[in-house]
Amino acid sequence: MDLPAFEYHRPSTPAEAAALMARFSDDVDVVAGGTDLLPNYKNRLNNKGHVVSLAGLDGLRECTTSRLGALTRLVEIERSAELAAALPVLVQTAKAISSPPLREHGTVGGNLMLDTRCYYFNQSPMWRASKNFCLKAEGGQCLVVPASNDHCYATYSGELAAALVVLGAELELLSSEGARTVPVADFFEDEGIVRFRDRRAGELLVGVNIPDAAQELTAGYNKLRIRDSIDFPSLGVAVAYRLDASGALDRLHVCTTALRSKPDSLDEAVAGFLGRTPSPDLAAEIGTACMKASVAYRNVPLDPKYRRKMVAVFVRRVLGRLDERWTS
Ligand SMILES: Cc1cc2nc3c(=O)[nH]c(=O)nc-3n(C[C@H](O)[C@H](O)[C@H](O)COP(=O)(O)OP(=O)(O)OC[C@H]3O[C@@H](n4cnc5c(N)ncnc54)[C@H](O)[C@@H]3O)c2cc1C
Repeated sequence: MDLPAFEYHRPSTPAEAAALMARFSDDVDVVAGGTDLLPNYKNRLNNKGHVVSLAGLDGLRECTTSRLGALTRLVEIERSAELAAALPVLVQTAKAISSPPLREHGTVGGNLMLDTRCYYFNQSPMWRASKNFCLKAEGGQCLVVPASNDHCYATYSGELAAALVVLGAELELLSSEGARTVPVADFFEDEGIVRFRDRRAGELLVGVNIPDAAQELTAGYNKLRIRDSIDFPSLGVAVAYRLDASGALDRLHVCTTALRSKPDSLDEAVAGFLGRTPSPDLAAEIGTACMKASVAYRNVPLDPKYRRKMVAVFVRRVLGRLDERWTS
């Protein structure tokens, strides 16, 4: 399918990009690698009249243990020896995203700001017309939860967010009003059209700050999808923990993605396990607590009950791969 017509803008600094965003307010999108936005445009999914490309910006390409620039490509994370040594969960997560060609072009900013997806939304215009469209594009009703005409249940599928939540990272955003930072864990909300990203008018993501304390954590990621070679996640689980001198848990963080319209931090559900020492029984208890705290909707190919059950399995698997004390 062809791209629709839009006016293309190619600023050379983040400030110019932010000014263009402010100028065209509701009728503008940002494009970085274009691996998600452009297929959506071809399917006529909420296209805008103006598109601001970030491809001509200098900078925003840091790839270090303390900072990922918004324009850092996923393949750069995947190949970073520095990250592999200090924050291997980021390398593991980046490698799980889509496929090698898409990781060559896809960026950190595009992955974090990824639009929500849904079985009823990511379809051709003809397919959607046959269902009378949905709340997220041109329709008046959510087709996932048909009683809903004011809440969209599409799924957030970005994967880096889950890993960055458990590492305690924060986003740096820029608009014509200035810059602000917000913890990744606080940036997303469970609503699939607008609020899933707490992105204020005209804001761009410029980078992600990772605290030094993240390097004290042992962390891993696991992903459920139909075809390992390319598919979006039907579930992603990131886990991070730290043991104190006595070998007991003194930090424990779990975050899922692809279940609801936001990545879900499960820190509250696992807080009661702090002070305990790793064992197979504890891994099972943590997994069950995470599953009980999770909610999934029928909005991506795999069954929601199955995806929810797999939260327990994946938490156990991630822990087991990180240290044998969780399995024997
Ligand atoms: C077949 C296929 C499979 C895929 N599989 C996966 C997968 O398994 N896991 C996964 O996580 N993703 C997947 N993706 C989605 C996508 O390829 C990646 O998420 C990629 O990282 C997006 O980056 P991009 O730079 O191409 O984003 P773009 O397509 O350029 O942008 C994506 C969104 O982010 C916004 N945006 C981009 N940069 C910024 C910025 N700096 N500030 C504010 N907003 C911004 C855009 O406006 C747009 O809404 C898949 C895509 C396809 C087509």
